[in-house]
Amino acid sequence: MVSRTTDDYTAMALSGCAAVCEPAFWAGFDRSSAQGFYDYFCQLTDYEPKRAAKFGLPHYSWLCINPKESEDSELAREVIDIIPEFLDRPNVLGIGEIGLNKNTRTELKVLEWHVDLAARHDQMILVHTPHLEDKLKGTRLILDVLKSDRRIDPARVIIDHVEEHTVKMVLNTGMWAGMTLYPESKCTSSRAIDILENYGAEQIWMNSACDWGISVPLAVPRTALEMRKRGWSQERIEAVTFGNPMRFMSQNPRFKV
Ligand SMILES: [Zn+2]
Repeated sequence: MVSRTTDDYTAMALSGCAAVCEPAFWAGFDRSSAQGFYDYFCQLTDYEPKRAAKFGLPHYSWLCINPKESEDSELAREVIDIIPEFLDRPNVLGIGEIGLNKNTRTELKVLEWHVDLAARHDQMILVHTPHLEDKLKGTRLILDVLKSDRRIDPARVIIDHVEEHTVKMVLNTGMWAGMTLYPESKCTSSRAIDILENYGAEQIWMNSACDWGISVPLAVPRTALEMRKRGWSQERIEAVTFGNPMRFMSQNPRFKV
């Protein structure tokens, strides 16, 4: 939401969104210092919740240095070291979106640091998986890191950007799977519904891509409409679009919707 206008908040409130959950992500450019991230974390935990509240929307956030900017391991270390002072803020749900972008050795090391941070502070985890040809390998690497840390409870982890060839692998670990919806590229509404129909809708959530690229904050309500056209009952639509994220995030007692 830090990249969106107040019109988007109005549209979300009007279409029945009950809360906003915003992961720390790439700003459209690489930040030049840890101080830049410090300011960003203030924005996510202080200013943005106030802006959302004006539209009656509770705002929650996840904190990290995202994989796209974690190639500089010295910067990543500095950023990870300032995160604990924000973990007590009332709208913070956990660590995310961490993960891999190009599956490099440095990204993997930074991912392990984040997982350790989450374990030490008993935080939930939101993970980004790479796009395109790196996805399968990246998802495998990520799952290996998470599974090999015995402190991590799989039920408190969500692996986002799953596709047809990675969804089963994720669900088999007991972790949650996420699908970020885009209007034209990557995971569209119809593709997401196909995945739900083929792989089950128990431990999967959908969320709207919402950034500087082409994206629509109402992607989830639009997908709900598409589900209705395909003959899904209202009950099942609500179970997936609302009930599932509620179940996952309510594992954090701070999440009250
Ligand atoms: Zn992502």
